[in-house]
Amino acid sequence: MFIKSLYQKKKPVLSFEIFPPKPEYPLETVFQTIEDIRDLNPDFISVTYGAGGSNRNRTIEIASRIKKNYGIETLAHLTCVGHSPAELDQIVNQIKSEGIENILALRGDPPRDQPEISFRPGNYCYAVELIRHLRRHSGFCVGAAAYAEGHVDCKRWQDDWDFLRAKVEAGVDFLVTQLYFDNRVFYNFKENLLRMGVTVPVSSGIMPVLNPNQIKRMIYLSGASLPAKLLHLLDKYGDQPGEFEKAGIDYAINQINDLIENGAEGIHLYTMNRAEQTRIIIKNLKTMGKIG
Ligand SMILES: Cc1cc2nc3c(=O)[nH]c(=O)nc-3n(C[C@H](O)[C@H](O)[C@H](O)COP(=O)(O)OP(=O)(O)OC[C@H]3O[C@@H](n4cnc5c(N)ncnc54)[C@H](O)[C@@H]3O)c2cc1C
Repeated sequence: MFIKSLYQKKKPVLSFEIFPPKPEYPLETVFQTIEDIRDLNPDFISVTYGAGGSNRNRTIEIASRIKKNYGIETLAHLTCVGHSPAELDQIVNQIKSEGIENILALRGDPPRDQPEISFRPGNYCYAVELIRHLRRHSGFCVGAAAYAEGHVDCKRWQDDWDFLRAKVEAGVDFLVTQLYFDNRVFYNFKENLLRMGVTVPVSSGIMPVLNPNQIKRMIYLSGASLPAKLLHLLDKYGDQPGEFEKAGIDYAINQINDLIENGAEGIHLYTMNRAEQTRIIIKNLKTMGKIG
């Protein structure tokens, strides 16, 4: 099923993001996580892709098995950095032969230990080129990444949003945002998109903060701003890991609740493969009647 059709049927569309285990860990570990969260009824599960293709087969196998064995729709992430157009054709054919119909088209970043694979002549430099490439293949629903606070490398937010509009015009069916902690940033972003004529559905990427060090890492990587309420949690519980985790989960629940009350089209939970915390968040929202 094309994910774009889910947005026509229900609101909010609920999705979970998982990542393949590192090569030294058995693939099956991720299926234990899926066993533990499947009854939360996500509308789809997305599976990340190691830029450069390091875990390519794992991404495709996990996405394919989620769909075939659990009957849950899947979204396979795919990055173009480090791949030639011919390699991308091979990967896309493999994705198709596994029955996967939805791809999140990303640029990716060169892995820190392989900067040499970055942007070779003839390869694509931006996700928009991958989106055009995918549009030459039939039979896929294509999503792309969006950054409510601008991509971390971008100098002007408006430029980033203009590049985003170019991605949508190249043939994107839906967007999934980078994490953010302040919903006002998202509402402002969404209004901007509408003013720019971008009307595809947008799922809000929410990552629960479960420990103080994780916040710093998340901010370094994503460039998300830290609202005062979250800073307050850091000050209050920074040296009490158990209390901090509880407060971080509450923060995510409140953030999602507010998004749903304000008409969010989709909630995309970055689960970090943490089944227990995902269960607490979703069960609470179900109890509150916010999601079915
Ligand atoms: C929901 C989501 C899922 C993700 N999943 C993965 C994953 O599975 N694996 C992974 O490795 N990474 C993943 N990422 C991270 C992503 O690959 C990085 O953020 C990467 O740096 C940008 O990818 P993009 O697709 O947004 O790139 P693009 O849209 O190409 O943008 C990259 C940068 O280039 C700029 N830009 C775009 N077009 C142009 C142009 N024509 N001229 C000049 N500048 C331009 C943009 O403003 C931005 O700064 C994910 C991100 C998100 C939000």
